[in-house]
Amino acid sequence: MAKLEEVVALAKRRGFVYPGSEIYGGLKGFWDYGPLGVELKNNIKSAWWNEMVYGRDDVVGIDAAIIMNPKVWEVSGHTEAFTDPLVECKKCHKRFREDHVEERKKIHKKIRYKTKGVSNITLTNEDKYYLFCSDGVSHEFTEPRVFNLLTEVFLGVTEPKQKTYLRGEVTQGVFVNFKNILDSTSMKVPFGIAQIGKAFRNEITPGNFTYRTREFEQMELEYFIKPDEQQAEKTFEYWKKERMDWYISLGMTKENLRFRKHGKDERAHYAKFAEDIEYKAPFGWSEFEGIHHRGDWDLGRHKLSYKDDETGKEYTPWVIETSGGVDRSTLFFLIDAYYKAKDRVVLRLHPRLAPYKVAVFPLLANKPKLVEKARKVFGKLRLSFHSTWDDRGNIGKRYYAQDEIGTPWCVTIDFKTLDDDTVTVRDRDTTKQERVNITKLIAYFDERLKT
Ligand SMILES: [Zn+2]
Repeated sequence: MAKLEEVVALAKRRGFVYPGSEIYGGLKGFWDYGPLGVELKNNIKSAWWNEMVYGRDDVVGIDAAIIMNPKVWEVSGHTEAFTDPLVECKKCHKRFREDHVEERKKIHKKIRYKTKGVSNITLTNEDKYYLFCSDGVSHEFTEPRVFNLLTEVFLGVTEPKQKTYLRGEVTQGVFVNFKNILDSTSMKVPFGIAQIGKAFRNEITPGNFTYRTREFEQMELEYFIKPDEQQAEKTFEYWKKERMDWYISLGMTKENLRFRKHGKDERAHYAKFAEDIEYKAPFGWSEFEGIHHRGDWDLGRHKLSYKDDETGKEYTPWVIETSGGVDRSTLFFLIDAYYKAKDRVVLRLHPRLAPYKVAVFPLLANKPKLVEKARKVFGKLRLSFHSTWDDRGNIGKRYYAQDEIGTPWCVTIDFKTLDDDTVTVRDRDTTKQERVNITKLIAYFDERLKT
């Protein structure tokens, strides 16, 4: 597996991710995406939107404002739920209620005493969760404190300014528009509302590169169903599988992914039950998408309901939520794709996620005829695929440079091209080369992008 430092270095060197406001010493927990990073991130978001919105009859999308009436956060329970003092592990950043941790420690001590320090004590997974980081070493806790994660903002120019918050999750924008969507579309329960957008949390200990940040993007689906335990379970299992399959379909290594059920104590205030998709990151198994059964918590709190046209019955729908971190999945797609071959680094990104699909080279930069022909091919390709041009150095160096940023195909225009209109297409992963007629290039890449 790639080391985190290697991925961080590559990200900076090639323009995926830079430290936020770096020329002023940065700001803890904020990162900027460079020319390649923004492409990778956009490709992930559009693959998600394609799958979750365009590919389905039962989901519509929205884009709600980041700043909302503060009432939203009072009613949603966010301002009050963040008042319990918690301890946070300095290493894995998991948070626990202090009394819960103390209780587990006591039980653990008792067992150790009884077994006289025999080391192969069997602990339940829940015990382990409270006692150890994912690498098996004991947590190292901060002092207990109140983690009010909502970031305050003040609006207006005259005092007193109106206090509200940057949204702490994108979900609430969906709930407050529930009625609008029913009134303006033909959606009927069961149906879903999808949204991608930024959210903010005043994290005390940001860290692990772009994994734990104070500003981040989420891609979320709220799926509304009739209140029924069996239906909820079925829908929950359905979305669990859909979401896991999606990451695998875009090339994430199956063995680096797993589900983890939340224990009773670690669930968010709104969740009836919850399960995470975790990635085996260089810093341990780490959550990057959650599937939550939120029940009627949110719609109930906002006093919103649904009227069934057929039965005339009014009820508060339940919600199954899938909540994925865009920055976290971008990071894990990068880490998962990072591959060190003998003499080069290859980002084996799925072609659909790769920032550039095609790189075009004239074999020699000082032969006007080659350059002119290559420019023509490049001009054509870039209308269909995000493409890049390179005429520096020799072909071998250009290949390596493209491998390192994950470009799946390189097209070289050489002297043979001038005779027969064929070009060399070189594949990133196999390094195999093939002659393809210029008129067939677009179809050639199209076909490969679909698989
Ligand atoms: Zn820990």
